[in-house]
Amino acid sequence: MSDKSTSSKAPAAAAETPQMSSPPRKIYPIVKYGDPVLEKPGAPVKNFDAELEELAEDMFASMYAAQGVGLAAPQIGKSMRFAVVDVTGGKNPEGKIVLANPEVTHAEGEVREEEGCLSIPGFRGYVVRPQFVTVNAQNVKGEPFEIRGENLLARAFCHEIDHLNGILFLQHLGMLKRDMIRRKIKKLRKQGEW
Ligand SMILES: [Zn+2]
Repeated sequence: MSDKSTSSKAPAAAAETPQMSSPPRKIYPIVKYGDPVLEKPGAPVKNFDAELEELAEDMFASMYAAQGVGLAAPQIGKSMRFAVVDVTGGKNPEGKIVLANPEVTHAEGEVREEEGCLSIPGFRGYVVRPQFVTVNAQNVKGEPFEIRGENLLARAFCHEIDHLNGILFLQHLGMLKRDMIRRKIKKLRKQGEW
């Protein structure tokens, strides 16, 4: 999921990472709308190994570089049920949340708010999401945990879990708005700008 400021700011340099001792991170290019990987369900994560830990850290770095608050594995071309979320923008280490095989187990309330997606840059739309959600997932080591989210965090969880099911926020928009965005993207693609 993209930050509100996505369109106005240049991507942050990877070199801004404060921990000097940590290895340089791979910044993945983000797959854009139109790539079929975004519209198919991801495979469950089964191997909780060092490679997955590397992937999680690279995904956080890629997400911060793109000014996002969530990034799902299909958005970097990996069709798996794996996502990272941080609504603090990397300011608080406790804000880093890794979600392997997440499921929403409870949802309550409704909030209608503007939403964007790193895979659909430059376009936003109002989406109704639950105000509160409870998510069951596994961490990067495979340990199960439960987490609750409210407002933006609840929205980020729902948006990223949608990605793992092959669903984009466009599908939550009204038909007119959705078709308008699709037409504009088609035009951009023709012009070689997508
Ligand atoms: Zn997204």
